[in-house]
Amino acid sequence: MDFNMTPEQQQIRAEIKRVCKEFPDAYWREIDSKKEYPDAFVRKLSELGWLAALIPEEFGGTGLGITEASIILEEINHSGGVATACHAQMYTMGTLLRHGNEEQKKRYLPKIAAGELRLQAFGVTEPDSGSETTKLQTTAVRRGDKYLINGQKIFISRVLQSDLMLLLARTTPYEEVKDKTRGLSVFIVDLKENQGKLEVKPLDLMINHHTNQLFFDNVEVPIENLVGEEGLGFRYIIDGWNAERILVAAEAVGDGRWFIERAAKYASERIVFGRAIGSNQGIQFPIAQAYAQIEAADLVRYQAATKFDRQEKCGAEANMAKLLASEAAWAAANACLTTHGGYGFATEYDVERKFRETRLLTIAPVSNNLVLAYLGQHVLGMPKSY
Ligand SMILES: Cc1cc2nc3c(=O)[nH]c(=O)nc-3n(C[C@H](O)[C@H](O)[C@H](O)COP(=O)(O)OP(=O)(O)OC[C@H]3O[C@@H](n4cnc5c(N)ncnc54)[C@H](O)[C@@H]3O)c2cc1C
Repeated sequence: MDFNMTPEQQQIRAEIKRVCKEFPDAYWREIDSKKEYPDAFVRKLSELGWLAALIPEEFGGTGLGITEASIILEEINHSGGVATACHAQMYTMGTLLRHGNEEQKKRYLPKIAAGELRLQAFGVTEPDSGSETTKLQTTAVRRGDKYLINGQKIFISRVLQSDLMLLLARTTPYEEVKDKTRGLSVFIVDLKENQGKLEVKPLDLMINHHTNQLFFDNVEVPIENLVGEEGLGFRYIIDGWNAERILVAAEAVGDGRWFIERAAKYASERIVFGRAIGSNQGIQFPIAQAYAQIEAADLVRYQAATKFDRQEKCGAEANMAKLLASEAAWAAANACLTTHGGYGFATEYDVERKFRETRLLTIAPVSNNLVLAYLGQHVLGMPKSY
């Protein structure tokens, strides 16, 4: 067991820290208040190759492991930034990498690695199927050399900031499949080619997340854009879940560290009743408690990432890391807000923004209830609730 970072991992962390200094609190605050996309930040990270961390070198990426990728995203959030704005560019291509054919990989991966193509939209959730993915109703019907897509999606992020979207759609009606995980297929949708047939309606959310409702009206996808085998799409998507959970856990750890550092500093400086508020246990202990929670979650995150990089089974650890880190970050967020008193609500302190942002990680990309259900049912063998 080695708890030390390798020199390469330390260097990645230092480098991301340095880049993030160019995008200070004021940058993120303005982007948030105007509900803009942090394009300059995402472009900079792409130019430096950080978003190509998980793409193998043969396709123009840097071929790093999930551990290194998670450090990149952690440091973005730790610096006060928002890794969710660009994390999907890092990992959505994983489905293509693992299940796409050579032609698809050669066509797309080098351009994604270079930042020339953005594949950071991932269309799964529908109005009537959120957690229950296998109930999704958007159909893909084959007509000659193409599929025609019809239906609706909701909460699909970064569609307007992407060239391509990975889409999960139904190719066999639900009633006709014996195994409910079958009958769904994954497609690469060229968003520019389908303007007019795909209506994108931005959703107004409590966070700046560029999330949309989508309406498909005979959207055309050539058969060569089917990823893997028809009907096995749900399996392919599940394959990417561990990576996603580990990366989101790291983002939550980054948020947690940000909250704890800000809270500890403010608690040491703010004088009330003639002494620093941090000397009161009502302020000090919740910060210390959240710190311990973040450190514990971080260990599970590295355990999950290490197993993932060794290609060992890591479903339990990846799920636990996501659960523990998102809840620890939320505990840190609350401690930080309490510490700042009324100033925690003032946008110029950035606490309220990070508070809103970190709350998402307990719900999306998967709700912590479903994570608990995975642990209860798949790890501990208890009866299923679904
Ligand atoms: C900002 C944001 C961005 C998103 N981006 C994307 C995206 O890019 N692509 C995409 O496909 N989706 C995206 N999502 C959707 C997200 O993945 C879903 O919101 C999430 O999976 C939950 O689905 P739901 O909202 O339909 O909740 P529901 O499935 O309706 O569940 C509601 C609540 O009930 C709980 N629940 C349901 N069943 C059980 C059970 N058996 N036991 C215990 N609790 C249960 C859930 O855990 C949840 O808390 C995004 C969501 C948000 C908010």
